Amino acid sequence: MATLEIRDLHVTVADKEILKGVNLTVRAGETHAIMGPNGSGKSTLAYAVAGHPKYTVTSGSITLDGEDVLEMTVDERARAGLFLAMQYPVEVPGVSVANFLRTAVTAAKGEAPKLRIFSKDLKESMAQLQMDPSFAQRNVNEGFSGGEKKRHEILQLELLKPKIAVLDETDSGLDVDALKVVSEGVNRFSAAGETGVLLITHYTRILRYVKPDFVHVFADGRIVEAGGPELADKLEAEGYEKYVGKAGV
Ligand code: ADP
Ligand code: MG
Ligand code: MG
Repeated sequence: MATLEIRDLHVTVADKEILKGVNLTVRAGETHAIMGPNGSGKSTLAYAVAGHPKYTVTSGSITLDGEDVLEMTVDERARAGLFLAMQYPVEVPGVSVANFLRTAVTAAKGEAPKLRIFSKDLKESMAQLQMDPSFAQRNVNEGFSGGEKKRHEILQLELLKPKIAVLDETDSGLDVDALKVVSEGVNRFSAAGETGVLLITHYTRILRYVKPDFVHVFADGRIVEAGGPELADKLEAEGYEKYVGKAGV
């Protein structure tokens, strides 16, 4: 069973320490929600796992099934079975969804899928997500609605079938339609039991549709509390104030 292990992770951005000792284990079949106030370092954690060059790991470790993720290039991370929604650019002018996805699958598998097989997989996955086939010919993210962006993200998950998926729900522009798309995708992957999901979010809204197995509260660069789904209800009722105080922000 796939396991992502993050141990005492410290990360600096522009010479400032943002992550101050993060410990987290995500296994296939588990859904973890990371929740916390803005600026607490949630996206920094996702970028560090993704291998973004601006984020420097100063100490600690990240392993996937015992393999050192920090030694891997971004492409190697994808091949190892990590999916990071944010490693993809916001807009890719002149590149169609179909070509973009085929390139992503090629990067993850280490070889290009046969066009006929890929086209069939793409069609089936799009049908499952109730997407219009013409979507495949549109340029990536060009004029996409919030819901379309999210469908595109979940479509990548369907085609790549990663071991561990890190989804940073940056919270802006996520309408109810988009929330539902992400939620249904996450729930389907979780039910299949082959993918571990790390869902990063500021708001508790999405947790009306996704029931995480574990909820972690993130404040000032570390996890300050962990629990089950009931912790999300508590956060919805009480907000983050008490954690912000506790973490000394
Ligand atoms: P969150 O996702 O929880 O809102 P972030 O990880 O985006 O938090 O940001 C945490 C802190 O790191 C913030 O103070 C932010 O200003 C800083 N930070 C993040 N990325 C950068 C960057 N590329 N350059 C400079 N500072 C950054
Ligand atoms: Mg963020
Ligand atoms: Mg599950």
